[in-house]
Amino acid sequence: MDIIKIRQDFPIFSQKSGQNKSLIYFDTSATAQKPAVVIDALTRFYTSINSNVHRGLYELGEHATTQYESVREKVARFINAQHTEEIIFTKGTTEGINFIAASWAQEYLKPGDEIVLTQAEHHANLLPWQRVAQKTGAKLVFIPIDKETYTLKNPEEYITAKTKLLAVTYSSNVIGDIWDHSKQQLENLIARAHTMGARVLIDAAQAVMHRRIDIQQLNSDFLVFSGHKLMGPTGVGVLYIKKALHDDVQPYHLGGSMVFSVSFEQATWAKSPQKFEAGTPPIAEVIGLGAAIDYINKNINFDVLHKHEARLCSVLIDGLEKFKNIRIMGNKHWLRQHGHLVSFAIQDIHPHDIASYLGTKNIAVRAGHHCAQPLVHVLEVDSLLRVSFGVYNTLAEIETFLQELTHALELFGNHVSHKSCKNLEL
Ligand code: PLP
Repeated sequence: MDIIKIRQDFPIFSQKSGQNKSLIYFDTSATAQKPAVVIDALTRFYTSINSNVHRGLYELGEHATTQYESVREKVARFINAQHTEEIIFTKGTTEGINFIAASWAQEYLKPGDEIVLTQAEHHANLLPWQRVAQKTGAKLVFIPIDKETYTLKNPEEYITAKTKLLAVTYSSNVIGDIWDHSKQQLENLIARAHTMGARVLIDAAQAVMHRRIDIQQLNSDFLVFSGHKLMGPTGVGVLYIKKALHDDVQPYHLGGSMVFSVSFEQATWAKSPQKFEAGTPPIAEVIGLGAAIDYINKNINFDVLHKHEARLCSVLIDGLEKFKNIRIMGNKHWLRQHGHLVSFAIQDIHPHDIASYLGTKNIAVRAGHHCAQPLVHVLEVDSLLRVSFGVYNTLAEIETFLQELTHALELFGNHVSHKSCKNLEL
């Protein structure tokens, strides 16, 4: 995999800032950059086949439908789903989780039932369950994150006969991996949840661009991710629903294109995926997502990507460890082995100040609570800086980043502390 060549496929990297600085994009966890083939696919759709799907009995409409449905097959192959109709297009991860919360959980859960989450969930995989709990009387149970090791201790103890849903992230957008993959910890927990009669939802928003997802091996009942984190366009996402549950899940939206028959009084639904995709879907975006998957299949070897991103994490951690006043949040061993992001706090300096300074140097990082306020509070901070990588990032960019970070620390008057990082009051 030739990173420099791959980088040339992304038009955004050929632009420079006002100060003639190349973009250093370290915010792939927020959204990935798009290769030209994805942007071209959107333009091509609108310039040559724009029409609605599943309706028009004319050539354009048939082309649009064929292309749209071919992406469903591509996604199914990409995550190794057994049935194409298990793939539902949504607006993104957030919509996918709200979908299952409203259309399945609210229908089935009752007082006394438990929904098990980790303390590391993005708000997208927390707030919908809070509402389900309020509406049904079910209880939320959180598997704690160990503050020292950033791991989950004995998560299986939290799955009991009361558990009706395990809804957990595959990878945290703040601290990276939380599951011990060497012990198949996530897969084992899913198996335990099934043994106890619970259903499982996996938030794969962060994982999808960094590790091969095999849904049959993972064996969750639901899985969600966003197209834009997979180098596709915004406005499209994927919700996987295991075929055996298609009758149990109600449609989230009601309207055109999802019915078998309708009278003035009532309606019956078509089968999945139509049942779950009411109204005009994000056609161009789905086709753009298909182009992203084609690009990934052709150019990206996940094993090599893993190693590349882990090396970037490792070099960054080495650099950050030279600053005694910086505390890295995440399991450093795992980050060095298979990480794709590094979050950290700096004593006495607000991350927004550093991020704004880096922004003036055309370096894009994320600062804040990362839509995971409860986790950030568990880590006893208010805000963090996050550097997140994609296939297009290089070691030279990390060097520039570290130089600019040093300048920023000098500018904001932070002197190297001799305290142990662990004892920092951040
Ligand atoms: N879950 C995780 C772990 C995420 O990182 C994100 C976005 O950053 C989401 C859910 C929400 O994704 P989206 O905003 O694309 O719906």
